[in-house]
Amino acid sequence: HADTALHKAKQRGRQQVTFYREDDGHAARQHLALENRLRQALNRNEFQLYYQPLARLDNGKVVGAEALLRWLPKDGQSVGPAEFIPLLEDSGLIVPIGQWVLEQACEQAQRWLQAGFKLQTMAVNISPAQLKLAPVLRQVQHTLANSGLPADILELEVTESGLLENSRKTLAVLNNLRGLGVRIAVDDFGTGYSSLAYLSQLPLDKLKIDRSFVMRLHESPRDASIVRAIIAMANELGLHILAEGVESAEQAQHLSGLGAQLFQGFWLSPAIPAECFAEQFLSRQPG
Ligand code: C2E
Ligand code: MG
Ligand code: MG
Ligand code: MG
Repeated sequence: HADTALHKAKQRGRQQVTFYREDDGHAARQHLALENRLRQALNRNEFQLYYQPLARLDNGKVVGAEALLRWLPKDGQSVGPAEFIPLLEDSGLIVPIGQWVLEQACEQAQRWLQAGFKLQTMAVNISPAQLKLAPVLRQVQHTLANSGLPADILELEVTESGLLENSRKTLAVLNNLRGLGVRIAVDDFGTGYSSLAYLSQLPLDKLKIDRSFVMRLHESPRDASIVRAIIAMANELGLHILAEGVESAEQAQHLSGLGAQLFQGFWLSPAIPAECFAEQFLSRQPG
């Protein structure tokens, strides 16, 4: 019967609508709950910085660390940065938490230097919101002064897409930061759409080649060519090159052959707590 069929179809439609609505509501509630937990996480001391070694490709020597934010909730499941960093950015929480990250990383680096450990670089991720909204220059200046860390140890990592937002203001901010003696690295390079002409106008010190290229290096001659071209271009511009996400000796060798100087990746170590980092990777010996 046609009426029954129509009725059924309508019911199905309604059910589907209801189903999607409930699902959306559920996702939104989860989102909000997570955001509220993140709001409290700083006061509850649930954030911690882990450190991943940055090392030379030619001799394996560790030259520095990248500070990576970890959230270790006292109750509830742990959530990775890929999930919670976007939430921090959407809610604006990235500004105070990013400032906390900067302070912690600078204080840690200065403690290591004071203890006599050799460390050339402490890399800290800066989100586009921090570059745009916050008085980032003053914050970096104060954090360096308060911690006593020499400015040339601090390297700020800005993603390629972050550099493309609001380019005129970004240029001014980067120049001022550079004026403090701080270095600037482009993070996740290759995932955005920046041109050589644009990048060459920015005050940059380092390109970090995105892990996705490193992953495909040996199976894709096309990606190998892109990486080769990126490295040639970067060297031409006087930029250092760090390859992200190196997981094997073969990848390290390949990247070294293409002209990269530095790497980080699970082949050497994931990010680990500060005490482990000093124990495993820092030395007091010269060289
Ligand atoms: P990123 O800045 O590109 O950091 C490198 C990410 O790659 C880290 O993920 C690191 O654990 C991972 N990684 C390093 N080597 C390997 C490898 O060999 N294999 C694989 N599979 N992964 C590797 P993590 O810690 O999960 O952070 C993800 C992203 O979250 C970071 O990417 C960064 O964009 C953001 N993030 C982390 N901490 C902060 C922070 O304090 N502030 C801001 N604004 N963003 C942060
Ligand atoms: Mg980074
Ligand atoms: Mg990166
Ligand atoms: Mg990355």
